[in-house]
Amino acid sequence: VGNINIALIGNPNVGKTSVFNQLTGLNQQVGNYPGITVEKKVGICKLASNLKATILDLPGTYSLNASSLDENVVIELLLNKNDKDYPDVAIVVTEVENLKRNLLLFTQIKDLEIPTILVINMADRMSYKGITLDIPYLEKMLKTKVALISSRKNEGIDELKNLIIKYKNIPTDPCLNASEIDPIYFDNLRKAFPNQLLYKLWLVITQDVNFVDLDRKELPNPSFTKSKEDLKRLQHKETIKRYQFINEVLKVGQTVDINSAKDLRSRLDRILMHKVYGYLIFFGILMLIFQS
Ligand code: GDP
Ligand code: MG
Repeated sequence: VGNINIALIGNPNVGKTSVFNQLTGLNQQVGNYPGITVEKKVGICKLASNLKATILDLPGTYSLNASSLDENVVIELLLNKNDKDYPDVAIVVTEVENLKRNLLLFTQIKDLEIPTILVINMADRMSYKGITLDIPYLEKMLKTKVALISSRKNEGIDELKNLIIKYKNIPTDPCLNASEIDPIYFDNLRKAFPNQLLYKLWLVITQDVNFVDLDRKELPNPSFTKSKEDLKRLQHKETIKRYQFINEVLKVGQTVDINSAKDLRSRLDRILMHKVYGYLIFFGILMLIFQS
């Protein structure tokens, strides 16, 4: 029986565990607070009579610029091709209401040149929020396959399984050209390590993680190990570049029409807006009466 290794990655609270449960038929605890998935959990998803997927539900992480133990678990797995759990496919789970923030992590995973499927979860919330998405456009710009799903309503899961089966069709081009972060620094890096993926190198330099292809000791000192402040500055630049890219993509790929939103908050906002206009007109008329 063929097996596909899958890593399920995403920010806290996007519905990773719900998607995991849908795919594997397991019943892991779902929670609406972050940090409930504290360790790697494994499940099996049957894809066809002779094909299965082994799925890892990883702890929620906001980015690969690790600051917590949870985030380190994800980075260490993705940097080590020899890890027995190293994924054939990464599935980055996002959700419709926080897509912009969620996509930061997606672009980072994508830049590790692992076939990456983008799952946009909580599709059932779209009409409430007045959100529409141009999926073909998102697929083109993000160079990936997108599954728009609702794990709560069990919608889109079969489509996701089909994307997993055909994971070899997913392009592995990165979203961001790492050299853009700092052309001179990254050019030197490329010259010193011509066979390494630039973005991986960058993660090894900035994070305190083990990386089997390259030991931190191999980094020539001090030219590549800049000061902590300099590295922080470059990381900040990386984040800005990523959000620039994401904003460009979402400008066309996502529309939010507050007037068609059905959720209570948007409705209240609209009513309050009308109220404000109402009061302004009312006081305007009062002023006119007093003046005359
Ligand atoms: P995780 O932290 O990424 O593992 O997310 P969970 O699977 O624990 O889910 C977080 C919260 O989102 C829970 O309250 C879920 O019930 C809710 N949730 C998950 N999937 C969906 C969905 O498709 N639609 C809606 N409306 N809520 C969802
Ligand atoms: Mg979870």
